[in-house]
Amino acid sequence: MTFVEIDRCATDAIALVTGCRLGKRALKFLNWGKMAATFVDISTGRAVRIAARDSAKDRARELFPALESSAAQQQAYRTLPDDQLFDVQAVRVTLRPEDLPGYKGPRVTCGQCGESINFRREVQSNGRTLCRSCAGECYYDLGN
Ligand SMILES: [Zn+2]
Repeated sequence: MTFVEIDRCATDAIALVTGCRLGKRALKFLNWGKMAATFVDISTGRAVRIAARDSAKDRARELFPALESSAAQQQAYRTLPDDQLFDVQAVRVTLRPEDLPGYKGPRVTCGQCGESINFRREVQSNGRTLCRSCAGECYYDLGN
């Protein structure tokens, strides 16, 4: 299982290389704006978080001054050792059963909008069971 912390090209690359996909519930997207990802072996619990080092961009400019920024970065990623490109940390990720692929659990109905909610993502608010939108986390409005 992989947790990605940004919605950039790296996210697509990680999905391709790992086989972890949103639709398989093995890729978890966190919209944190950080070029980082955590890879979890769910059979052993071993996990590693890898973050791109900002200093790698400066290093790319130094090494390949004749190239444009993105080309220099591509070249740097091909040639620099991993420890100059990434920070790597062993971490622990607490996975709830409802986060795992294959989880079968009850589907509940939002007490306000009536839509179904899967994977225990409902919220209890003033004694009501609500979806996150109706609980105030809505990212859209009805545009009227
Ligand atoms: Zn609702």
